[in-house]
Amino acid sequence: MSNLDSMQRFTFDDTDVRGELVGLHKSLNSVLSKHTYPEALQAELGKLMAASALMSATLKYEGRLCLQVRLAGDVTLIQAETTNTGELRAIARYDESKSDEIDHVELQGGQLVITLEPAVGKPYQGIVPLNSNQLNEAFEEYFQQSEQLGSRFWLECDGKLASGFMLQQLPASEGNDEDAWDRLSHLASTLKTEELLSLTNETILHRLYHEETVRIYDEEPLTFACTCSKERISNAISNLGYDELMDVIAEQGKVSVDCQFCLQHYSFNSEQVGDLFPEKKLH
Ligand SMILES: [Zn+2]
Repeated sequence: MSNLDSMQRFTFDDTDVRGELVGLHKSLNSVLSKHTYPEALQAELGKLMAASALMSATLKYEGRLCLQVRLAGDVTLIQAETTNTGELRAIARYDESKSDEIDHVELQGGQLVITLEPAVGKPYQGIVPLNSNQLNEAFEEYFQQSEQLGSRFWLECDGKLASGFMLQQLPASEGNDEDAWDRLSHLASTLKTEELLSLTNETILHRLYHEETVRIYDEEPLTFACTCSKERISNAISNLGYDELMDVIAEQGKVSVDCQFCLQHYSFNSEQVGDLFPEKKLH
């Protein structure tokens, strides 16, 4: 299996093409075990997590890359995020009453929203229409449109493992290295689903590229981690307003919030809600 819970970069000597391999196991399981997603949805969520890790390799600053697949059917949202330090989280929204009927996720007609969120500065958002049921094609289109860079993505998930393989032309190569690009991406397209899911990175690269000089870089770990905190949840609930929160406390004794990503439970009593609205304390 492309090495588990890690991301690994590789380059080819004398070409302007780079690649990344991603394998997810524990990090995928940490996401899937917290929810009871239908199998077809688990597969798409795993692929999106692999894609978010692959794309996070292009982050050149501290921050986070967030991918959202927005759909109009029984599944409405698939979301995966990876930080520049390799922390992943993911979530999906779907009509739980249709759980047993969801045997396929219709992507075509939806949108892929790619948000780059630097720790400092403005977020950047790109939107690509999903013109097919193949998630990888949307990423290839995104790079073609936004950076005029050739890129190829292979994304696989069997519910236990997720793997991703990306090849990308470096900016300098556009136009002057088409042979290498065509050759390397054609060879990658001979890789079978089960090979991507079951072989180590080294074996995959050897099998595809034994006639090339491939340089493999150190693996970078990928882990499940949620970015929720009492402070972030406080900010979110304070948008509801003092009166509404106090109404909830009058009815239920406290305001309870569960993080949708990691299921961490947060609760606020009347004093803690009061602290969120210092102006109310003056009276
Ligand atoms: Zn959380």
